[in-house]
Amino acid sequence: TVSVVLYTSDLRVHDHPPLRAALDGAQEVVPVFVRDPAVDRAGFAAPNRLAFLADCLADLDRGLTERGGRLVVREGDTVAEVLTLVRQTEADEVHMAAGVTAFAAAREARLRKVLEDDGRRLYVHDGVVTVVPPGDVVPQGSDHFAVFTPYYRRWSDQPPRTPLQAPRTLRVPPGVRSDRVPRRSDVADVSPALVAGGESEARKRLGSWLSDHGDAYEDRHDDLAGDATSRLSPYLHFGAVSAAEAVHRARRRGGAGADAFVRQLCWRDFHHQVLAARPEAAAEDYRTRPGGWRTGADAEADLAAWREGRTGYPVVDAAMRQLAHEGWMHNRGRLITASFLAKTLCVDWREGARHFLGLLVDGDVANNQLNWQWVAGTGTDTRPNRVLNPVAQGRRHDPDGAYVRRWVPELAGLDGPAVHEPWKLTGPDRAALDYPEPLIGLADGLDRFRQIRGIG
Ligand code: FAD
Repeated sequence: TVSVVLYTSDLRVHDHPPLRAALDGAQEVVPVFVRDPAVDRAGFAAPNRLAFLADCLADLDRGLTERGGRLVVREGDTVAEVLTLVRQTEADEVHMAAGVTAFAAAREARLRKVLEDDGRRLYVHDGVVTVVPPGDVVPQGSDHFAVFTPYYRRWSDQPPRTPLQAPRTLRVPPGVRSDRVPRRSDVADVSPALVAGGESEARKRLGSWLSDHGDAYEDRHDDLAGDATSRLSPYLHFGAVSAAEAVHRARRRGGAGADAFVRQLCWRDFHHQVLAARPEAAAEDYRTRPGGWRTGADAEADLAAWREGRTGYPVVDAAMRQLAHEGWMHNRGRLITASFLAKTLCVDWREGARHFLGLLVDGDVANNQLNWQWVAGTGTDTRPNRVLNPVAQGRRHDPDGAYVRRWVPELAGLDGPAVHEPWKLTGPDRAALDYPEPLIGLADGLDRFRQIRGIG
């Protein structure tokens, strides 16, 4: 018998329930990844992202080949390609990971229908993308938690799942046609700063980061210049390492740093369970708030300045330039830049979320849209009207100004925290600076936000 394993955002051989189930039930398996143009059309085609994905696919192919198999790659509509493949290989079953987006739900429903009409079965596995499957931990009377802290408490009480070993061997039926596995070198305009993708790299990074930096994480995770976070997000997004395994290994290590890291991974599950219950929250406000968003030429010009990292607020501009250059941004930078767009410039969070998704290697509908909504006050934050002050944030999380100087070379000549307030320079020093004035004063921005939201 033959089973197909359809890979989506789970590009690994370790801790992979669909692969395990397929091998338990069949003599031969066909691991397949479909390059579906619908995904690119949805705005997920940034060069850095495609290059990272290519690394992941090449490494997955290597992992499967080492075990006697290989990765089959096809291009086209996922459902049509899988149907062709099951017919060609006479496979009875298809195994895949459960997703949380509307796109994943629609794909799954279509696939189930065509397979069943063809006399075959689709098995959709939970616990592949998240640690705790969405819907497993719910409050009384609701299908999801809308507040993080009680979710975290219940999530932490769940019995831990031991990660599955990678299979030792597997067999792919002979003669299955595959497109060439993509390579990073196929992609143009990739940033030289882009890290290597793939399961091997993810596992190495998880191990070395936990042992070298895990203990300091609690104290240093907000240090913009220190860059002390794990940078595992792109690997977690593409499933090159399982979140369950990251939690398992962190818990085994123990300590305050590991606990803080596990808590962040719980945020990931939290947003996934919100989106699974409310897929429309990818585009619509999760909670309705008074007022709207600024529109028109001025708002457009502000949005363009924000995108390009020339708002006149150094820490905002530094973070936006890091995003453009690396396809990644520090979490503190994401919080500051998102708050600035949605609450100081009062521009619709959807504009910011779209820009992020277009550039982030870890760009993820659940994490991106729901973090944006959290910051914009339309999401799950229980203090929806808090506004981050970019100067205070810069002084606090980049006290020496090293992060700003790294990303905003125009300000590289300014020493220490003065870099956060270049407008305080006077005379020839100011005249010599090729850096914009702030788009709006912070007090004026706050007044405007309060007015729009009707806060007294
Ligand atoms: P670490 O601090 O090492 O954390 C470990 C892991 O925990 C991360 O890799 C991530 O998977 C998870 N995590 C950490 N913080 C969060 C969080 N707030 N929400 C959900 N998961 C979290 N994360 C994405 O993976 N994709 C996105 O598209 C994304 N967009 C964001 C947009 C905004 C406006 C904000 C405020 C946050 C966003 N995040 C997103 C969450 C977070 O910023 C990143 O996961 C984190 O910066 C990745 O760096 P790291 O791997 O070094 O994180």
